[in-house]
Amino acid sequence: MVRKILHLGDDALRKVCKPIPKFDLRLWLLLRDMADTMYKAEGVGLAAPQVGILRRVVVIDVGDENGLIELVNPQIIATEGEQAGSEGCLSVPGRRGYVVRPNKVTVKAQDRKGQWFELTGEGLLARAFCHEIDHLDGVMYVDKMDHEIFDDEEEKEEQ
Ligand code: ZN
Repeated sequence: MVRKILHLGDDALRKVCKPIPKFDLRLWLLLRDMADTMYKAEGVGLAAPQVGILRRVVVIDVGDENGLIELVNPQIIATEGEQAGSEGCLSVPGRRGYVVRPNKVTVKAQDRKGQWFELTGEGLLARAFCHEIDHLDGVMYVDKMDHEIFDDEEEKEEQ
């Protein structure tokens, strides 16, 4: 089920989200709805607070071999290098910013059944990890951007 995506200015986007304590049907329905919502909006990532759920859950699909990535209670455990580039957000439609992020990021998270795993991403996936996990602490890319991008030639992934 596609849920409504909240936009910048909504208080829910600025809250620190709580961990998921139980890996049950309620979580699986949330994960399903978040994936539906992300794909419908043609985004590459979505965090639970963007649909008004203040829990530490993220979905990402940057179109690589990982396919749909579900991260429950994720933490960034290592970063390497730096990338500077254009970033967008489904909660900030029609806008983009220039944001510096690490180029390589390793996350530790639980899967939908509660099993811990680690995953390393580079480039766009590393950027998506940072962007989405920031959402869980009420942080938006607009807080971190160096400047707004008005040039429409940039890539247009939204998270
Ligand atoms: Zn976002």
